[in-house]
Amino acid sequence: EAEETNMKENGKLNISGNTRTVLERRYLRKALDGTLQETPEGLFRRVATHIAEAEGFYEDGLDPSAVADAFYGVMTDFRFLPNSPTLMNAGNELGQLAACFVLPVDDSLDGIFDAVKNAALIHKSGGGTGFSFSRLRAKDCRVGSTGGVASGPVSFMKIFNTATEQVKQGGTRRGANMAILRVDHPDVLEFIQCKSDNEALNNFNISVGVTDAFMQAVREGGDYDLIDPRNGETRGSLNAREVYETLIHQAWFNGDPGIIFLDRINRDNPTPALGEIESTNPCGEQPLLPMEACNLGSINLSKCVVTDGGKARIDFDSLKEIVWLAVRFLDDTIEMSRYPLDEIDQMVKGNRKIGLGVMGFADLLYMMGVPYNSDEAVGLAEKVMGFVQTEAHEASRHLAVSRGPFPNIGKSVFKGDENRAYRNATCTTIAPTGTLSILAGCSSGIEPVFALSYVRRVMDGDELLEVNPLFETMAKERGFYSKALMARIAETGTIAHMEEIPEDVRRVFVTAHDVSPEWHVRMQAAFQNHTDNAVSKTVNLPREATADDVQSIYDMAFDLCCKGVTIYRDGSKQNQVLSVAEKK
Ligand code: ADP
Repeated sequence: EAEETNMKENGKLNISGNTRTVLERRYLRKALDGTLQETPEGLFRRVATHIAEAEGFYEDGLDPSAVADAFYGVMTDFRFLPNSPTLMNAGNELGQLAACFVLPVDDSLDGIFDAVKNAALIHKSGGGTGFSFSRLRAKDCRVGSTGGVASGPVSFMKIFNTATEQVKQGGTRRGANMAILRVDHPDVLEFIQCKSDNEALNNFNISVGVTDAFMQAVREGGDYDLIDPRNGETRGSLNAREVYETLIHQAWFNGDPGIIFLDRINRDNPTPALGEIESTNPCGEQPLLPMEACNLGSINLSKCVVTDGGKARIDFDSLKEIVWLAVRFLDDTIEMSRYPLDEIDQMVKGNRKIGLGVMGFADLLYMMGVPYNSDEAVGLAEKVMGFVQTEAHEASRHLAVSRGPFPNIGKSVFKGDENRAYRNATCTTIAPTGTLSILAGCSSGIEPVFALSYVRRVMDGDELLEVNPLFETMAKERGFYSKALMARIAETGTIAHMEEIPEDVRRVFVTAHDVSPEWHVRMQAAFQNHTDNAVSKTVNLPREATADDVQSIYDMAFDLCCKGVTIYRDGSKQNQVLSVAEKK
């Protein structure tokens, strides 16, 4: 059966099965015994009212109840949703509303265990944490106070992992971490291998932070220096190409580590005077300074397509309205959030970073009849995200007129630039929208649709055939719909090879594995061109892809100025979340 979609009838929410399940499991208020204490309408009303309270803090703020109605409307239309912690915690006891944090890890026992503790507090509130372990002295270095030897970054990561394992968020999900190590850290080779056979780091994503100098050395085939983080002295050298190949082989083998381009990220650091960016949040889309947090929100692009005289087009007027409301929402959220540490509170309120992005992009392409793997789609990506970016900046500048620019603007790259006197040091981020897209019933982030039809195992052992609603509608219109066909599609998820389906349909309704890795990277780069922060994207590779294929993806991502890249080769992780053969 087709997934039902969420509808509003006479102002009342009519929530589909999947949305309801996710809401009940993760978001609705529950009593101690697990009984629900909130309806879906109640949740969105709670969030809208709480966030709009911030309007009352400003002399010329808008009427909070009118703003709350607007927030409620845009969320219950599933046109815009804030990140999960906002939905879970707004107006509730915890009150922590941001999804993304980066914490410093200093080279001392105090520093390390402060970070463990702070991460636990953040996980409890539903946020994810990123760390750079690059400041820790290398394995086997002397420890001055005891005469012993240090155990190095990887060994300390295990402590963070264990702490994460024990702190369940609201009793439902575990926290998520990102670990970054600079490629010039002496322990880089151990780090690259650290997840290969190790359950002890299952709560971490890992990425190697590479520099432009390293990439240059790879191309020239030369060596590069390893640096002692304590004093900047050289501690040996490695061949850049060999390290790159080791990293690539490991990523080919099981998806970890990813790679982030530190110099590229820091070229977009709006406040270099406050420090260098060393890490991102767990899924990589949000580079942050140590002790900084960011709240995200996503616009559902599938709701921005209208049909005039049988032709689909993007409704830019309505998109603009949503962007402006969303920027207000996210800026208000900063005021209403309770941060787990004073230092974080100060950093967040100094820079006021927000991350507005999009989801449902693949749906939009289906609706417009544009194949994801085409120049036209890349052009649309540039156009849509360019529009979101420009309008988000305008909305932020407009807020700054009444509320003032972000307090650190005098220490930022925008200093003295009247045209960029923003309320927020950054405005845009493309999040994965793992749960938000299920709530909204749209394709996730900017990813292609994973399967047009698949079998979902439900809890009592039953199997349900789920068909992409846009595909089902079109198949019925074109007269080739049948249950038997949908079941056959579920075997692979794709229709690329099915000659009984019209050629033009097969060209447009492509899925993640029909899209070659090059198009994945080009799409990521197109969005990155118009995004202040970074873009969450997984480049899917077929099982038979080689390490050379992975290398060309990495090279291409670097050349196209992406801020990082994550690949996933089908079948390469044992507990693969989304394998075509047995999905969900
Ligand atoms: P959602 O759809 O739930 O709002 P996303 O999939 O868009 O979340 O992820 C956005 C960010 O939220 C992640 O990069 C990470 O910082 C944080 N996050 C996601 N899942 C978790 C988790 N299980 N624990 C902690 N943080 C998480």
